[in-house]
Amino acid sequence: MECPFCTGQSRDDAWVCCHCGRDLKLPQPLVEEHQELVAKLAELKAEVERLRDELKRGPRRAGWGAGWTALFARK
Ligand SMILES: [Zn+2]
Repeated sequence: MECPFCTGQSRDDAWVCCHCGRDLKLPQPLVEEHQELVAKLAELKAEVERLRDELKRGPRRAGWGAGWTALFARK
């Protein structure tokens, strides 16, 4: 049988995957939920990466720039 987690082949009567060691006898809804969570985790990791990148670049210069322009425009 094919492991739903790593797609490795294990014996049909195996209880755990011989490749990743995960439980092959989990009910299908649980497996689907697991895959959904893994996908969400990847999404969140990408989001964290993006926010970290933004923080590295410092405060939003565009925002500050617009603020200063407005201040000087008044004088
Ligand atoms: Zn596996």
